[in-house]
Amino acid sequence: MSEFYPNLLEPLDLGFTTLRNRVLMGSMHTGLEDRFFNIEKLAAYFAERARGGVGLIVTGGYAPNRRGELLPLGSRMQDKVTALLHKRVTSAVHNEGGKICMQLLHAGRYGYVPYSLSPSGIKSPITPFKPGKMSGKQVQSTIDDFAKAAELSKFAGYDGVEIMGSEGYLINQFLCERTNQRTDKWGGSPENRMRFAIETVRKVRETVGKNFIIVYRMSLMDLVEGGQEWDHIATLAKEIEAAGATIINTGIGWHEARIPTIVTSVPRGAFSFATGKLKSLVSIPVCASNRINTPEVAENIIESGEADMVSMARPLLADPFFVQKAENGRADEINTCIACNQACLDHTFRNKRASCLVNPRACHELELRYLPTQNKKKVAVIGAGPAGMAASTVAAERGHDVTLFDASDRVGGQFNIAKEVPGKEDFAETLRYYGKMIDKRGVKLQLNHKVEAQELIDAGFDEVIVATGITPRTPGIDGIDHEKVLSYIDVLLHKKPVGEKVAVIGAGGIGFDVGEFLVHNHTEDELAQWYDEWGVDTTLENRSGLKEANVVPSARKVYLLQRKETSLGKDLGKTSGWVHRAVLKHKGVEMIAGTSYDKVDDQGLHITVNGQSRVLDVDHVILCAGQTPKRDLADALEVAGAKAKGINVHLIGGADVAAELDAKRAIDQGSRLAAEI
Ligand code: FAD
Ligand code: NAP
Ligand code: SF4
Repeated sequence: MSEFYPNLLEPLDLGFTTLRNRVLMGSMHTGLEDRFFNIEKLAAYFAERARGGVGLIVTGGYAPNRRGELLPLGSRMQDKVTALLHKRVTSAVHNEGGKICMQLLHAGRYGYVPYSLSPSGIKSPITPFKPGKMSGKQVQSTIDDFAKAAELSKFAGYDGVEIMGSEGYLINQFLCERTNQRTDKWGGSPENRMRFAIETVRKVRETVGKNFIIVYRMSLMDLVEGGQEWDHIATLAKEIEAAGATIINTGIGWHEARIPTIVTSVPRGAFSFATGKLKSLVSIPVCASNRINTPEVAENIIESGEADMVSMARPLLADPFFVQKAENGRADEINTCIACNQACLDHTFRNKRASCLVNPRACHELELRYLPTQNKKKVAVIGAGPAGMAASTVAAERGHDVTLFDASDRVGGQFNIAKEVPGKEDFAETLRYYGKMIDKRGVKLQLNHKVEAQELIDAGFDEVIVATGITPRTPGIDGIDHEKVLSYIDVLLHKKPVGEKVAVIGAGGIGFDVGEFLVHNHTEDELAQWYDEWGVDTTLENRSGLKEANVVPSARKVYLLQRKETSLGKDLGKTSGWVHRAVLKHKGVEMIAGTSYDKVDDQGLHITVNGQSRVLDVDHVILCAGQTPKRDLADALEVAGAKAKGINVHLIGGADVAAELDAKRAIDQGSRLAAEI
């Protein structure tokens, strides 16, 4: 038994095979699945996770036939050549002592293809194509295709398959009246709607024989109108067990649901209660999922009896060695997923290869490598924000002699401000991780040290990495020095008091964050408030897990303003922006586009919108008007002739480009530079 996290790390005996622990790496579509020439990259990506100790890996989704594809020519398991290619993946994982299942996913009406099929011809609100209605023959042949894909997976060396029955994909579409209005034996009654899921599992089991893992991923709360009732979910679970599943994994919410299920503001482990309710109904292992990102949360879920396993997907992108570190008592070295979605899901939805904001090596294992240096250099990194922390720790890991300076009394730069935003508390984990790495890699940290150019030249550094970040922009508005005017730093970091009527200038990521900070009601039980505000029924008595949302009104009147005519928040992340917009809308924030700012005075903020003048009678005006690069040090180094003196000067993060800057680019740029010097 492991000394640390004994429940999480206890092996799981499945009868014919044993998993080395209870951690299942959940399925993620990374973009590497879709093209055969990426197979080596895919193998390296999974092999690294297997080396890191995860109990069972599940691949991204593979369609059992063409009409089930997520994208045109997307990942599919339908022929022997593909299966042969996948032997590279399975052998790479097995060589590292891991086990891996292929996920079989028929997208149904979620396919971004004009030839998609669904139980009924009802278009989804999040895809452009109306699906065709499956004929009875097509239903039957799709079940056969699932079975054939499972057989091919077995031939490819997979230890099993996961049958995707949640998140609103085809099987889930069959299960719900919302998308299944058939009147044949595949629809019309709960029993008929379940038939497709049960027959699929049964046929797969029949085809692959006994000693092959079948994970069935079941939707426990559809979180959409016209979803399943709990009694039907309970019946289905028992039928799925009887049909031959080995493990029931769980999923929460359809992709089109308007309740967030995985973004950073979703409390950790918020949905494990539903898995707890399922567990007593079946005798096969059940697996909890959604917003489980630390070994503590995972251990508690298993220890409390809510689940036998936990699924973590993004946390394994962020840190492939999550399990190994937990096992060795080094949980404080885990690079924690902060649930931002910026480099993983937002990429996937833009058809771009996934990676991870806090770990740019994710899905780039063969291309971005931190190899020991053959030429040890003396390196100065100025600025301990995300860019500087990444650059210094990677350079030191490679064996360079690195000094990291920061003018403030702590590392983290703007992440120290970001973590103050309600729902972004997890950003503190990135500071903890880098703090630990600075220590472990032997980076010489000099805080409270504002660096001047001459001292760098005098100290004889070979490489100087300028990561001095940004300066907040102060717009040229009349009265900008009025005492009503505050910056986002005054509000979020220095906690300057803010009145009951507030105007926020600028509606980028920071403007929205400040908006959330201003309207958030702190309560004793934040989790209960979260369920209430989003309308999540934790009793599971209501169909789909929905109940009427009960939003506590904001104690403040807040205006959020921008000059552009476009709708506010349009450029926020694809998979998280809608959540930020919904929060502010629910809280009654007045959003005004096309604003021109005339002046600030004792009356408040004077603006003109559509040619009409208006005075916003506010106590405070908070500036969130973007940022400019902080380049004073870089300029001084140039003036002092650093280059001529043989010093290589590099600019990274906000100091390089402030526009469109985010931590994803800062960490990526810092890590890539440090991998090369
Ligand atoms: P910074 O983080 O600005 O760090 C620069 C550091 O340099 C500072 O610590 C400063 O003290 C130091 N420094 C400057 N000059 C000197 C000198 N001469 N000597 C010594 N030290 C010096 N990004 C996202 O991707 N996702 C988000 O959700 C997100 N949310 C945010 C929310 C808020 C409220 C804020 C403020 C920012 C958010 N960001 C987010 C942006 C993100 O924090 C920045 O993109 C990132 O911090 C930039 O990193 P950096 O290392 O370039 O600069
Ligand atoms: P930003 O996204 O560039 O937004 C700046 C805002 O200021 C815009 O709304 C802009 O709108 C306004 N603005 C620009 N110049 C102005 C001027 N002269 N006068 C008045 N308004 C002006 O920058 P940010 O909000 O400061 O965020 C900084 C970075 O952090 C961004 O890259 C962002 O992606 C990142 N971040 C990300 C998140 C996230 O959730 N992913 C959260 C926070 C921050 P108009 O020009 O239309 O007025
Ligand atoms: Fe987690 Fe963000 Fe990395 Fe995605 S990009 S794995 S959400 S930290």
